[in-house]
Amino acid sequence: MAKNNLHCSFCGKNRDEVKILIAGQEGHICESCVEHAKEIVFQEVESKKEGKSDFKLSVRKPIELKKHLDEYVIGQDEAKKILSVAVYNHYKRLNQPTIKTGKANKKSEAVDEVEIEKSNVIMVGETGTGKTLLAKTIAKLLNVPFAIVDATVFTEAGYVGEDVESILTRLLQVCNYDVTAAESGIVYIDEIDKIARKSDNPSITRDVSGEGVQQGLLKLLEGTDVLVPPQGGRKHPDQKLIKINTQNILFICGGAFDGIDKVIARRVNTNAIGFNVNKNVQDEMKNNLLKFVNAQDLKSFGLIPELLGRLPVVTYLDPLDKATLKLILTEPKNALIKQYKKLFALEEIELKIDEDVLEFMVDKAMEFKLGARGLRSICESMLTDAMFELPSSDKKEFMLSLEYAAQKFEHAKLSVLKVA
Ligand code: ADP
Repeated sequence: MAKNNLHCSFCGKNRDEVKILIAGQEGHICESCVEHAKEIVFQEVESKKEGKSDFKLSVRKPIELKKHLDEYVIGQDEAKKILSVAVYNHYKRLNQPTIKTGKANKKSEAVDEVEIEKSNVIMVGETGTGKTLLAKTIAKLLNVPFAIVDATVFTEAGYVGEDVESILTRLLQVCNYDVTAAESGIVYIDEIDKIARKSDNPSITRDVSGEGVQQGLLKLLEGTDVLVPPQGGRKHPDQKLIKINTQNILFICGGAFDGIDKVIARRVNTNAIGFNVNKNVQDEMKNNLLKFVNAQDLKSFGLIPELLGRLPVVTYLDPLDKATLKLILTEPKNALIKQYKKLFALEEIELKIDEDVLEFMVDKAMEFKLGARGLRSICESMLTDAMFELPSSDKKEFMLSLEYAAQKFEHAKLSVLKVA
């Protein structure tokens, strides 16, 4: 072969386009193809090493699921019930003989041609009312991988931002790239309301972070084979992609949907600020409007009908009142107060808390509109000094009195958090 006809047998580049051309028996390879080959071999070896996790689905009946949720989440009975049924039905599907990736159940082999569709869920409720907590708790009980993603980081493919496929990257990472486990996992998509399209009319200009993302989610939610970049980010041509089927992945979406009460009010034909009803009834209705939420309201809010079609189970969460916040402090299995008591107990100090301190904490959380999420920072503000000093003292008991708590709280200047 004439010297100037030499070329890389992999990429076809000529001798003068590459730095090094290594000769083999029948052909040549250039330095950049060697690099690529090395990367592929490395990824292949790595992926053989990974792919094992301890997740093993254990399906529970709806009543059991709800009972378990009751141990960790206060109130929200309706959401718990609806979620328990949806989750149970979803995982029952896995034994359907007709679905593509499901394992055939021999007993019912000849039975049905009815294909049960996915029961992805959408939860509507103010922030900090327990949406994520519900999804996380249920995933833990079922022993399936669970990933939380924020819808606001996504943009339509090709634009700056993350591709929706990276949702599955998170799931894969949680289960150490065990594809089988990931394929029966649960994904919680937070802030789904933030990708609502800007108006109810289909847009003329491109809406790459709203409607574009909703379009992107469609296939994922319905069930399809998706090629996922194992390290996240954008797909690039040299990256080895992992194929995941989303047919049995349960998607739970959540959002605050600020202002949806007005949409619901309009639909149910009850003016939230009507003048025929007395004030108490008005308030009562206003507080409860979320109970009536349905797909139509979500559509008016800006979710596209195709997406709503793939989120057939709609439920709501109640706003947290004072009584609920107080229970959240003390009742759940890993309630905040229980956690602090344990922290103190590990130092062999008994933490005692006055009942009125709990009231005070709840009052402040309400006053500062911090919700359940704020309870933690309120507790921290009151107990940090004690947790700083006590480990070096020989005290066996610490009493958190109202006076002490109020003083520490004021000192912590949580008032900067106050929402107008
Ligand atoms: P959301 O997803 O609705 O914004 P989260 O589920 O993240 O809210 O709630 C934030 C935190 O507040 C939780 O980690 C939990 O500690 C507490 N919390 C909120 N709602 C409840 C509830 N109903 N029962 C128990 N804890 C709750």
